[in-house]
Amino acid sequence: MESPSNPNAIITLIDNYAPSEADIALINKAYDFSEKAHEGQKRASGEPYFNHVVATAKNLARYGMDATTIAAGLLHDTIEDGKATESEIKEAFGDDIFFLVEGVTKLGKVKYRGRERHAESLRKFFVAMASDFRVLMIKLADRLHNLQTLEFVNPEKQRRIALESIEIYAPLAHRLGIGKLKGELEDAAFPYAYPKEYAEIETFLNEKKTVSEQNISAVQSSLERELTRQHIHTIKMSHRIKHKYSLWKKLQRYKHDPDKIYDIMALRVILPNIEDCYRTLGLVHMLWKPVPDRIKDYIALPKLNGYQSLHTTIFTGDGGIVEIQIRTPEMHGIAEYGIASHFAYKEFESNDKTNQKTGKYAWVDEFRELSRIVNESGQFMQNLRMDFFKDRIFVFTPKGDVIDLPDGACPIDFGYAVHSDIGNHISAAKVNGKMVPITSSLHVNDIVEIVTKSDAHPTSKWLDCAKTTVARKHIRTYVDDHSLLNKYIWNRFKSTK
Ligand code: MN
Repeated sequence: MESPSNPNAIITLIDNYAPSEADIALINKAYDFSEKAHEGQKRASGEPYFNHVVATAKNLARYGMDATTIAAGLLHDTIEDGKATESEIKEAFGDDIFFLVEGVTKLGKVKYRGRERHAESLRKFFVAMASDFRVLMIKLADRLHNLQTLEFVNPEKQRRIALESIEIYAPLAHRLGIGKLKGELEDAAFPYAYPKEYAEIETFLNEKKTVSEQNISAVQSSLERELTRQHIHTIKMSHRIKHKYSLWKKLQRYKHDPDKIYDIMALRVILPNIEDCYRTLGLVHMLWKPVPDRIKDYIALPKLNGYQSLHTTIFTGDGGIVEIQIRTPEMHGIAEYGIASHFAYKEFESNDKTNQKTGKYAWVDEFRELSRIVNESGQFMQNLRMDFFKDRIFVFTPKGDVIDLPDGACPIDFGYAVHSDIGNHISAAKVNGKMVPITSSLHVNDIVEIVTKSDAHPTSKWLDCAKTTVARKHIRTYVDDHSLLNKYIWNRFKSTK
């Protein structure tokens, strides 16, 4: 692992916009402040703790975040793990950066305990807490580095962090539309979360790779030739191997029949505009026969997270099958960097071979662009929160699991949300350590404990306060069954009289 000798290591990674003097000064200042705050601290690997925050900041720079977010990334552990105080940060860096650091610190307090049915609640909780998408980005960049240094922590923690990353963090990256980060998080976590399956995928890929690489190279040269002949200018053509974790997921979906997976390796064609994309799709279908039902027009009909591209899968003619993805540079930016791509993102430069990274973006009118983006991301987060949190509240089990419930829910709803068996035997409830009626309303951040008794049972009165469908369904079933039973017993009683 390289040592973070100076802040330039971070600044040089910001290559999709030109940092201003003020940007550089801010990053330098945060760098020095953080270095002092973490002085003498070590990571589990034995390296200086400071390396971790620098790596986090580098990830943020790589994902095109602005200087404020990068500075906050450098500072993200200074309160919780370092020697800085809240007021020191506020004073030195102002309210905006303090808000980001505080947000990341708060998110660090919740842990996922591997219970699948709480995962969605926890994801929602994350978004609710991260009232600003920059907080989420810092947390994701932080997590990515923690995963990359996971070999140094104990196996139990390895597994917990890896699973948490796959269940909580990667889906968040996906929701933000940052496909590249989602893939990086999953692939870093995969070997620790599912070691056996990871080994299987490695073997599988090694077998497949050479053949599909030859197939794809042949298709690529034919297509390049044809595009030149038709005077269609290609910005970039390259192929990528599918991320290992998503390949494994797909193999599971297709019942481990690898012949059904056509996109282990895909050819990606980046073209200047939408018209060229459609023309190229036409050319591809003239050159090769497409596989039926595999033609997707995500340009006319984008995916929900904003992804746009044309996809088609073709028979190469010699027994091979290759997926081709066709898109513009803007669409590519959004596919890889999602909302982050809006920061300063403009357009690829021409087909410059020295420029192979992910393409360069030209920075246009920094301030106008940034203010537009901040508004857009604010709107984006609001929309994201709207569909997540239409009148939802978050409460906790005594162990710290997050349960999300509708506004006005009561301990009965809580009991059923944890388990129907608990719901069916609620006898009392404690909220924040105090006994309360099981029909009382719960509030945000309440810690709820349910006391059960084997002879406690639902009554129709419970329906007056239960809000969730799950609770109401169980209560009704119980009450109906028992009134039927009572009727039956009564009838038997009458007939024997
Ligand atoms: Mn950290």
